[in-house]
Amino acid sequence: MVALAFLCGILLVLPIGGADMPVVISLMNSYAGLASAATGFAIGNNVLIIAGALDGASGFILSIVMSKAMNRSFGNVLFGAFGSVVEGASAKTAEGLTVREISAEDAAVQLAYARLVIVVPGYGLAVAQAQHAVRELADLIEKRGGEVKYAIHPVAGRMPGHMNVLLAEANVPYDRLVEMDEINGQFPQADVALVIGANDVVNPAARNDPASPIYGMPILNVDQAQKIIVMKRSMNPGFAGIENELFYNEKTSMLFGDAKQSLVRLVTEVKSL
Ligand code: NDP
Repeated sequence: MVALAFLCGILLVLPIGGADMPVVISLMNSYAGLASAATGFAIGNNVLIIAGALDGASGFILSIVMSKAMNRSFGNVLFGAFGSVVEGASAKTAEGLTVREISAEDAAVQLAYARLVIVVPGYGLAVAQAQHAVRELADLIEKRGGEVKYAIHPVAGRMPGHMNVLLAEANVPYDRLVEMDEINGQFPQADVALVIGANDVVNPAARNDPASPIYGMPILNVDQAQKIIVMKRSMNPGFAGIENELFYNEKTSMLFGDAKQSLVRLVTEVKSL
């Protein structure tokens, strides 16, 4: 039984994409709760039954909430091998499209004179550990009279609440963090949307490309901002492994480089204006 359980566990987890692990972990938490409840029944222990049932239910609810925010089914998370590049998975390719690059100096000018800047943090912000640098930049913009808000997508990053925890660490005031449904109506008023290491959560293909694997996933409407600055290191795709048409939008400028280093350069430039 023990050997079989080991084998089952390994084979169940092996095909799951690395970044889907949070969903799997919470699902396993739920299984552990159910196992405790079953043990409770076997040895007649009410505390084990109640605690196990609560653990089982909460883990299961969290797994469902996460899958829903990614607009994916449990089956897809567990067996979909999401993120592996599938030929023809998306109808849109980048062929014939060009990207516009921007220098830190020009980006700093746009940010310094903006009235409303919406920062869109993603997984890359966490990788670069750039939360303190973004707070410093926001402080500078606010000192110059601009307003800075942070758009929080429920599955930005690699675990639920990833962005909230990261920004709280840098003491970003909690009232500046705005949930997706609320901030989406404000993008048209934003002078600049500053996308820092986010990709899938701002991909318009989720809205308008039925062939895309992320079609139907709720996204942040960054493409509706007046100007868009995207900070990432290369043109590599994000977790879903697909092209992002936002990068080829005529309002978009790419600021290539590690997010932290780029933010430090922006801070220096804004200070010098
Ligand atoms: P993505 O994974 O889509 O994109 C992250 C981007 O960050 C990449 O395009 C990468 O581009 C860039 N990046 C990486 N390192 C750096 C760096 N040091 N500096 C600057 N940029 C960097 O992230 P999102 O947050 O947009 O989306 C999250 C994804 O994870 C979604 O697909 C979601 O479904 C999935 N997911 C989320 C879970 C959650 O609970 N939050 C759970 C499971 C999955 P480049 O390499 O060019 O720099």
